Amino acid sequence: MEEEETERVDLILTGAVVATANDDFDLYENGAVAVRGDEIVAVGPAAEIAERYEAAETVACGGRLVMPGIINTHTHVPMTLLRGLANDRRLDVWLMGYMMPVEREFVNPEFCVLGTQLACAEMIRSGVTCFVDMYYYEKDIARATAEAGMRALCGQTILKFPSPDAASYEDALGYTREFIKEWQGHPLIAPAIAPHAPYTSTPEMLRACIDLATEFGVPIHTHFAETKLEVEESLQNYGMRVVPWVEQHGLFEAKVLAAHCVHIDEDEMRTMQRYGAGVLHCPSSNLKLGSGIAPVAAMLAHDLNVGIGTDGPASNNNLNMMEETHLAAMLAKGATNDPTVLPARQVFAMMTRKGAQAIHMDHLTGALEPGKRADLIVVDLSALHNWPPFTAEPDAVYAQLIYSAQAGDVTDVMCNGRWLMRDRALLTLDEEAVRAAALALAAKIDAFVIAREEDLFSKLVAIGGLEREESYEIQVKGRLPRPDVIADLLRHEDINIVHRSHYRQYDTYFLFDDPDMGRIRLREDAFINEDFQVTRVRARLTFTEPGERQALPDTVMLSRARFMAPADRSRRFYREYFRPNREYEIHKERRRWHVDYKGERIYVNLDTVTKPAIAGTFLEIKSRTWSRHDAERKVKLISEMLDILGVSRDQLFLEEYIDFIPDHPEE
Ligand SMILES: [Zn+2]
Repeated sequence: MEEEETERVDLILTGAVVATANDDFDLYENGAVAVRGDEIVAVGPAAEIAERYEAAETVACGGRLVMPGIINTHTHVPMTLLRGLANDRRLDVWLMGYMMPVEREFVNPEFCVLGTQLACAEMIRSGVTCFVDMYYYEKDIARATAEAGMRALCGQTILKFPSPDAASYEDALGYTREFIKEWQGHPLIAPAIAPHAPYTSTPEMLRACIDLATEFGVPIHTHFAETKLEVEESLQNYGMRVVPWVEQHGLFEAKVLAAHCVHIDEDEMRTMQRYGAGVLHCPSSNLKLGSGIAPVAAMLAHDLNVGIGTDGPASNNNLNMMEETHLAAMLAKGATNDPTVLPARQVFAMMTRKGAQAIHMDHLTGALEPGKRADLIVVDLSALHNWPPFTAEPDAVYAQLIYSAQAGDVTDVMCNGRWLMRDRALLTLDEEAVRAAALALAAKIDAFVIAREEDLFSKLVAIGGLEREESYEIQVKGRLPRPDVIADLLRHEDINIVHRSHYRQYDTYFLFDDPDMGRIRLREDAFINEDFQVTRVRARLTFTEPGERQALPDTVMLSRARFMAPADRSRRFYREYFRPNREYEIHKERRRWHVDYKGERIYVNLDTVTKPAIAGTFLEIKSRTWSRHDAERKVKLISEMLDILGVSRDQLFLEEYIDFIPDHPEE
């Protein structure tokens, strides 16, 4: 009998339970995998592989599970360095109020390299061989990832506003083009374009991203419909939900992978399925940020490619894909009241082959089959929490893996034919050096955040748009005997009315126990026309530091630092962001005249306070200036105006409304 010639390979893993995640989900009880170079050559029963192949090295797996490397389909790896920094906050406050300001201060190429190393070490330990990233300085992330030996789809972030690595989205696009050219074709790294989300994009910016993606054939990695608020704003601003809006702007001309999709409806699922867009399901992040539960069972029923991701470690707070997968299974059952949805094998597919399909990398990874890259892991299912094993059900090993296994059960990890971990020892990263460097950086970030929390000014600066206002304010208030005396003043020959307005003013004061912190006022002005209709609303924040009050004849002069910023977020955002000890509201109806009196600009206000309701009409005369000398001069003019009005001096008071209203809180 002619002896069949054996083929040489580099490595055979044998004596394992091999879960292939191939088209038929072939499972070998006593199986083997043959690897040559970076490629899987054969998978099958151990005896058959031993007959056909001769290996330079044979690893006896002792009944452990060999499966495809796990795919973390959505994360922001350098954010390991921000892990645990701000917790229990809503997405907008967490992102705009904490993450982005800290990132503006600290994120640079070194930060990204260190954060990537920490993330890679953590992910390798839990059996991840491939991840999808979205962050800044993606070139540096790609380099650190390749050095760690992991596979990644690296998405360079593009935002409509300035980011740590780009002053504008045009700059970000330029950087992304360079990045793609540098990394396209690399054996481990695939570049991607990452417009952060529809709500942080403009249509022009999205168009440019799509053009760049189609020019180079690279995918677009983004976030969709993460919160209800995002969908509501999309409906309000564009009259349509998120997916139709991006479809209208041509996003699906590119290969798309979209994180979250928590709030998409069935039509949106159909749209995404039609274009082959991948969904990156991030259950921990969606739960921790209170964003909701993605309708994963429905997505799978619509034949969408759904992978599982940890999201960034700042909103999870780890990169443990074993935990994430377990949660994905549990959550889908709980949310639908149906334990039959997302059975273990299907979840296993989501962490492997379906994840690879969702990120458009299934030609390379996600299954153990000839021709795919050798991305595989060995899992020891003999620990107490996995014990004992059963075989009565054919999918028992998947149930063990999804419902009882832990990240620490992963013993060996190979990516692209290279061992990254053997017997739980990392081979490509210096774990202790990474830990020490991260600790040193954390101390700096900690100090920055602590200082900022005590300083309202810095918190205001962090959210942008702040401008300094005049430092001196001279003002007086009085009860008017009859409101129409104001007409006498306005008719006076020395008075020239420059501008008049009428509005309802809704003030919310954020007050702090420590008086040195100053106070923040959110003022919403609803302008009213002659027909008493509201024509527009303007919202502004004013931050006032404690300053000096100097009583002058008839008036008070305040000298203090005052800053103003447009308020484009909700009162709820500011409340959660500034975290005042107390709040106080004052509503009033105000008629205001900007007048020139003897050549000086002075403001005359006629106020009715409606909350808390106070009887009567109040006059307020005030002026602002940068100069103390000028302020003193204006005091005289205000006294003269009071004479013209015939206001008796015992009707005057010098406090602000918040200071004299009877039930105002102690300051
Ligand atoms: Zn994300």
